[in-house]
Amino acid sequence: MSKVYLMGAGPGDPELLTVKALRILRAAEVVLYDRLVSAEVLALANPAAELIYVGKHEGEQESTQQLIFELMLEHARAGKTVARLKGGDPCVFGRAGEEWLSLARNGIEVEIVPGVSSALAAPELAGVPLTYRGLSRGFAVVAGHCAGAGGVDWADYARVDTLVILMGVKERANIARALIRAGRRADEPAVFVERSSTPEERVVDTTLGAVAAGTVEVEAPAVFVIGAVAALRAELAVRALAEVAL
Ligand code: SAH
Repeated sequence: MSKVYLMGAGPGDPELLTVKALRILRAAEVVLYDRLVSAEVLALANPAAELIYVGKHEGEQESTQQLIFELMLEHARAGKTVARLKGGDPCVFGRAGEEWLSLARNGIEVEIVPGVSSALAAPELAGVPLTYRGLSRGFAVVAGHCAGAGGVDWADYARVDTLVILMGVKERANIARALIRAGRRADEPAVFVERSSTPEERVVDTTLGAVAAGTVEVEAPAVFVIGAVAALRAELAVRALAEVAL
């Protein structure tokens, strides 16, 4: 029986794939994968599988989304086992919900395979625990790419102890300014984690004020974390590095 697995590939390091995702990846006949799926993870796919890149580029999101949907439908109807592989977790800004609904409406069997989201992994691997007794009672994960268009009212999120912003590199200065306007301190610690869990990982320690001033250089993809917990990195990252060396 054909089936579509909507699955998460984790942040990049193949060791952060779930056991289930690995099992399905080894068995799937067709793999539709996104831009943020690492080459190391793809290398674990069944050598006989058809690998199809369906990454989206700016300006063609909608047409690509339609094409992805048609490809999933076509291969599932042909009786194939399809792995729809997305970076991190499939339902965290991965549009898996929409794909799931479209497939369900067309009578295609779907199984969701959660993945390790960069929203959690990137800060953690950099020595930033998202919650911490006395420093952070909770966190919010927010998309930053529509900040300029007024898509997010940052005042709504400004009171959350730890903020984790995905897709926020381009709008970082505007986001930081909006958060300061909404009452967050300019000297609050912030951190950007680029390409987490890959050999190209780079971590930038900064403050909200410096980001607002436009002086912080960062390259996408990166996770932007704001909050007192970011300062824990100074001590904890030493341990994280020691782990990597093991
Ligand atoms: N579903 C994904 C997120 C997709 S949105 C997940 O759960 O991780 C794409 C954004 O995710 C990027 O703009 C970046 O902010 C973040 N991202 C994904 N992988 C990353 C990585 N390895 N390192 C840093 N940021 C990453």
